Amino acid sequence: MTDIFDPTALMRPNIRALVPYSTARDEFSGEGITAWLDANENPFDNGVNRYPDPHQKELKKVVSELFGTPVDTIFIGGAGSDEAIDLLMRVFCVPGKDNIVTISPTYGVYEVSAAINDVEVRPVPLGENFSLPVDALVSAADSNTKLTWVCSPNNPTGNAYSVTELSRLAEKVSGMLVIDEAYVDFSEKGSMLPFIEKFPNVVVLRTLSKARGMASLRLGMAFSHPVVAQAMAMTKYPYNVNGPTQMDVIRRLRETPDISAVVDLLISERKRLEVALPLKAGVKRVYPSDANFLLVEFDDPDTVYDMLLKGGALVRNRNRVPGCKGCLRITVGTPEQNDLLLKLMDEWK
Ligand SMILES: *Cc1c(COP(=O)(O)O)cnc(C)c1O
Repeated sequence: MTDIFDPTALMRPNIRALVPYSTARDEFSGEGITAWLDANENPFDNGVNRYPDPHQKELKKVVSELFGTPVDTIFIGGAGSDEAIDLLMRVFCVPGKDNIVTISPTYGVYEVSAAINDVEVRPVPLGENFSLPVDALVSAADSNTKLTWVCSPNNPTGNAYSVTELSRLAEKVSGMLVIDEAYVDFSEKGSMLPFIEKFPNVVVLRTLSKARGMASLRLGMAFSHPVVAQAMAMTKYPYNVNGPTQMDVIRRLRETPDISAVVDLLISERKRLEVALPLKAGVKRVYPSDANFLLVEFDDPDTVYDMLLKGGALVRNRNRVPGCKGCLRITVGTPEQNDLLLKLMDEWK
């Protein structure tokens, strides 16, 4: 990637030409207003009667400080990072014409979002031990490939790819490279976030749903070249992050910027399960994990799934996912929940 690379050239022509909706709050400077008569709101204060900041300025400042990246590189999604995934399709891919390349198996939302947007998916099987098929990903692309998607640590396989490998891919792909780092807090392999300036074709997805424990608030983030963040902001629904969520997330991020204690606990619990599970009846293999879940291969996954369910433990059955035959995906829980899992695995056979 050279310095002159501009992601704008890859965007859909209608997005490049878009005149974004200007909200009532876009034109105000804030100071000295005592009568808000611009947005047809109910004037009586009940805590939620006013429209929220459509640009999430204060929230972006907090995110910028926490993640060490400039405000103009940040997109905030109010439907989690799933919103960012959909917006990237809508910003870059012409329906019925353009395509995306993904690793396989991986997170199912890329494929569904592509289908909704009438975008062809070109899945590339992972290499041995779920390794990153850099050359195959590059050769799966053609002149209509706008986005290549890599999830690292990958869901459902659990392994992460090194910054070196991902950088090599970033240098080789012809369109944008999206790195979904939903589970990066649990990985020692590092993040591509510090490299978005070096690689203007890289978009990094993050979420508050996993390590940061705010799945219910639906707050996702994309970090990228400013023109991409700006295009996503223009394309989103104007008030995509509601006011209570903005305020709650700001408060929580300020109160608990450091989540290393809970992350360390979950990693040590993961390591405990990694050691204990292979000794249980019916377990064929526990794949190495850089995330907060384990992909576990069983002799008879469907029977184990039902058994765990009866015992009160719900896991994710991935037995029918191509590349994951025989596997269940098990989230690392609290120590007590993990004890229950191990106890059920002891008693079932
Ligand atoms: C859970 C998950 C997300 C998070 O989605 P949100 O919409 O932010 O909750 C994103 N990517 C992957 C790979 C995930 O597993």
